[in-house]
Amino acid sequence: MYRLNVMVLGLIGLLPLGVLAQETTASKPPIRVSDRARAIHQNAPVVDGHNDLPWAIRETERTLAQFDLSTSQPQFHTDIPRLRQGGVGAQFWSVFVPTSTSAKGNSLTTTLEQIDLVKRMVAAYPTTFGLAGSTADIERICGEGKIASLIGVEGGHSIENSLNVLRQLYKQGARYMTLTHSMSLPWADSCSDEEISGGLSAFGEEVVREMNRMGMIVDLSHVSPACMRQALTVTKAPVMFSHSSARKVADHPRNVPDDVLKLTAENGGVVMINFFPDFVNAVDARRSLLRSTMRKRFNQEFSEDLERADGELRKWEQANPRSDACDIHDVLDHIDHVVKVAGIDHVGLGSDYDGVPALPKQLGDVSTYPVITQGMLDRGYTEEQIRKVLGGNILRVFRQVEKVSQTLSQ
Ligand SMILES: [Zn+2]
Repeated sequence: MYRLNVMVLGLIGLLPLGVLAQETTASKPPIRVSDRARAIHQNAPVVDGHNDLPWAIRETERTLAQFDLSTSQPQFHTDIPRLRQGGVGAQFWSVFVPTSTSAKGNSLTTTLEQIDLVKRMVAAYPTTFGLAGSTADIERICGEGKIASLIGVEGGHSIENSLNVLRQLYKQGARYMTLTHSMSLPWADSCSDEEISGGLSAFGEEVVREMNRMGMIVDLSHVSPACMRQALTVTKAPVMFSHSSARKVADHPRNVPDDVLKLTAENGGVVMINFFPDFVNAVDARRSLLRSTMRKRFNQEFSEDLERADGELRKWEQANPRSDACDIHDVLDHIDHVVKVAGIDHVGLGSDYDGVPALPKQLGDVSTYPVITQGMLDRGYTEEQIRKVLGGNILRVFRQVEKVSQTLSQ
C-alpha cells in the first residue's frame, strides 16, 4: 500500500512538472526473456516480500468465494495462472488495514479479518497454496510444487499498543510486522507523517525485542529514517524492508537512504525492492511529493468539505499525470544500487502488487518476474547472484531470525 499522509516538503516547492519531465532519460529497449533466463528462473523460486491481494479483494466489497483465482482475474495484478508464470515460490501476503481504522478503534478486528481471508484463500486452493510459518514450511511447500503463503502485518497500529496483541498476531501466523504504515504511532515514527518520538520510543524498542524473541521479522518499510536507524541498533536479528527501494536513485521518503543500506548490510538484513513508479522513477517520485503537498493544501483549504478536497486532488492528478517513463530498467537500477552500497546479499523483491495504482512497463503483474531475471543476466549478474535476489536472501534472513528467536527463548 502506497498511500502517503500529509508531508511538509519545503524543498519541492512548486516546481512545474514540465521541468521535472525534461529530466527523463531516453527509454531503453524492452527486455526479451531468453530460454536461459527461463531455465534459471524455473530453478530459483521467487520469494516476494509484499502483495496486497487480500486488501484488493476486500475493497471490491465482494467475498473471496466470488472470485475464482484459478482463472484469469484481470481486475487484480495477481491470480494463480500468473503466479505460476511468474515462478513465485513463496509470497508474503500483506494483511494491511488502513490507519483510519485506529480512529474507529477497529484496527485489530480488521487485521484479524484479513488474516482470516488469507487463510481461507490458502484453504480454497489446496493444490496451489500452503500456509507457511517457518523456513522449513517454505521448503516443504515449495518442494510439493506449491506456493508457500506467509502473512505480513503492515503497520504497528494493528497491535493497538499491546505486546500481548503482538504475540496473538504471531500465533495467528504473522511472520513480519511493518512497524508503521503512513501514520506515526506513539511508539514509532512513519516516513510519511510528523515525528512523535524521534524514531522509536522505549515501548517501540520493546516491540522490536519481543519480535526478535518470537521470531517475527522486523519490517522497516514505511518508517522514518531515524526509526530505521534506531530499530537497527536495537534488533538482535536481521531486518527486512518488505517493499522499499533506494533513496539515492529516486528521492522519495519511502525509500532507504544509503547510510541505512550500509547499516542493513552490517545487520545482515534485506531490502526488497518496491516496483511502484512513484518510488522507483526519479521524476515520478518528485511528482508524488508534489501531490502530497497539494493534498495537504486542499485538505486545509476545504477542511469543511473533504469530498471537495478529494475532487480538487483528482483534478490536479489529471492535469499532472505520472511521466509514463517508468520501466523495468528503473527497477534494475535500484537493484544495482543496493548491490553497490550494501552488497548482493542484501537485496530482494517486494513488488507491492495489488497495492499500487501504477506499475513500470514490463512489470505489470505477477507473471513478469522472469523479466527481472533476464534484466539481471543482461547486466552481468551470475546465476548464483540472481538466485539470492529472487528469494535466497530473504530466506537467509528468515532462517537467522528463527535462530535468534531460539537463542533468546532459551
Ligand atoms: Zn506499503
